[in-house]
Formats: sequence, structure tokens, C-alpha cells
Amino acid sequence: MRVYALIVAAGRGERAGGEVPKQYRQVAGKTVLRRSIDNFLYHPAVEAVCVVVHKDDGELYDAATNGLRILAPVTGGDSRQASVHNGLKALREIGAPPPDIVLIHDAARCFVSPEVISRVIEGVRTAGEGAIPALPLSDSIKRGTTHAEESVDRSDLWRAQTPQGFPFEAILKAHEAGAGRSLSDDAAVAEAAGLAVRIVEGDEANIKLTRPADFLLAGQRLATSDVRTGFGFDVHRFEDGDGVILCGVTIPFEKKLKGHSDADVAMHALTDALLGATAGGDIGDHFPPSDPQWKDAPSEIFLKFAAERLRAMNGKIINVDLTIICEQPRIGPYRIQMQARLAEILGLGTDRINVKATTTERLGFAGREEGIAAQAVATVRLEAAS
Ligand code: MG
Repeated sequence: MRVYALIVAAGRGERAGGEVPKQYRQVAGKTVLRRSIDNFLYHPAVEAVCVVVHKDDGELYDAATNGLRILAPVTGGDSRQASVHNGLKALREIGAPPPDIVLIHDAARCFVSPEVISRVIEGVRTAGEGAIPALPLSDSIKRGTTHAEESVDRSDLWRAQTPQGFPFEAILKAHEAGAGRSLSDDAAVAEAAGLAVRIVEGDEANIKLTRPADFLLAGQRLATSDVRTGFGFDVHRFEDGDGVILCGVTIPFEKKLKGHSDADVAMHALTDALLGATAGGDIGDHFPPSDPQWKDAPSEIFLKFAAERLRAMNGKIINVDLTIICEQPRIGPYRIQMQARLAEILGLGTDRINVKATTTERLGFAGREEGIAAQAVATVRLEAAS
């Protein structure tokens, strides 16, 4: 069964404040719309994604969806209901066969989980009717204006979320029949047309970003949860020389490390760890050894680049840990100096930087004193964009 997602992003979102409509605001470095799209695009059961946009938001939309493989956007109407109707009509006319199931989703619910999406699809697939994620009410419900005049039985009341899933042809017909009316969501359009809508389990985290406080909370939530780890490993062989450079510190020795740059194997491992934590590839992607400008370059250029890249993503280093593997030279006497040098380059306290060394008990290339290996691990946190 072909399942398409139709994401409604044509509103103005005025209650949320901000300079752009709320679906184009960033939460932890990513727009709300992009977060919503990604949730469907990376869901294994969803074949295609289409977004309904406001006629004035073309540039914002292009920036938010740059590089994504999704269907061409559809221009919305005067109301959410009209926008959905336009989107459904467009899915009918895209040339490819229309979907069997359509999931209609509000862009502002950018924390929708794969489990909720799966439950909705399953609900439509098994029953051949509509399915919506919903949650029971936990607060007591009162009716009244200035005083609580009546207590309402909440046992059969639900808070409806999106995505709301439907057999495609049935919901398109329901929207045609309901055009011009003012119905609160697609389930209401379906109910008005006599299409059954079953309730599947929603998710408390699937909130709709509506007010400024929602954005603040969403950013805080992601800031505390978006902690990442990266790993780096590097080896350089010895050649004739008079000293090695490790973590930017020169250690007098009867050999040097061979390399295109200054061959600071420890700093290379650390640079790769930082790049790894932010899905930034590796040192060779950014500073190809074939490029003559990096000949004999001090490796702090690479480390500073990785740290700057992290900062540009609104990220911070939590801690780094390095292990240098060799028999010779002795690292111990230089450890404090190395930590201080890394602290300076990274702008980080030395309480978050550890440098240690080990041998391999004379086993392997390091044991035979043919070169030095280094391993590094970096933990970083991406903060919410302000
Ligand atoms: Mg290297």
C-alpha cells in the first residue's frame, strides 16, 4: 500500500510570535517544518512527502527543504481545511498513481515519533477507515464562564493529534463534500461525510508548537537530549628526526613522525572525534593530504576548524579524552602541558580534557617502535538556537 504524507504548513502561526511563521522558526538549529518532514521522510512505510505552503512563503520553504527529495509543494487556501483540500487534489494530479493512504499532518507537531506514525498507518490499513492518534484527558473538565457550573464526564473525551490517516479516495471525497464549511480537523471532515475514524494511541511528546513558551520548552528539551559522541583514531610512522609533536607540544626524541602536516597524531585523532560527533566526515575530507597548502601545517589549524564547525552548529564540547599509544618517547612528563595546549585551542577548561598514554606491551607496530597511534573520544551537546 502506498502511503504518502501531506504536511500542512500554510498557516501564519501568529500566536507563536517571532519574525517568520512558526513552521519556519528554528528549534535547536533546524526549522520546525524540516523536523516534521524528516520524521515522515525517514519512516520506512512512508513513500513520499508533500507540503502545503502559503503563497508568500516560497523562499522560506526552499531554504527549509534544500536538498530534500520530496514532492513539489502545493499552495494552500484561505483556511486549513481549504489547504488540505488543495493538497489532496494535487496528490491526485501528480502523474504518479495517487496514494492508497494519506497521512495529514500539522507542520507544527515536529516531535511526532515513528511509533505514532506506524500506529496511524496500521489503524487505516487494518480497518480501511480513518485513524487518528489521541490521548485521554487527565484534568477534571468543567463547563462555565466565570464559575464552574457543571463537571463534565471525561471518560469518553479525547485530545486529537496528527498525523490523521485516511484511505485517500475517501478523504478526498469527504473534503469535496465539506468544502466551504468550517471543520476543526480532518477527522471532523471525515465524520461529517460518514467516514469512520478510529482512535489509536497518541503521544504526550507530540505537542503542537503554538505559543512562545512552547518554543522555549522545545528548545530546552532538545538541548538536554541532543548529546553526541565522536571517536577518532590515527597512526603515523616514525622517520629520522629530532622530536615529535603531540597535542601541539614538541617532545625531543631521536625520531620524528612522518606526515604531510606536522604529523601530530594525537591532534588528528581528536579532530576526527569532534568531526565524528557532528556527522562532519573526517579530517581528510576537509584538509586533503593532496593539497600542498597543508604541507608542514601545524595541526591546530585542523582542530580549530572542527571546534569552529561545532560552534557554528550551536554546539559545545562537554569533554574530550585522548589515549596516545607508544613505547617511546615517554609521554607522562608532558601530559599537563598537552592538556593546557588543547584547552587553549579549544577554549575549554582543563577539567574537561584528559590526555593519557599507554604501551602495547611491545606487541604490534607500536610495540616495535615503528610509529605512534592515538585514540580520542569527544562528547558534545548541541544547544537550542536562540
Ligand atoms: Mg594523521
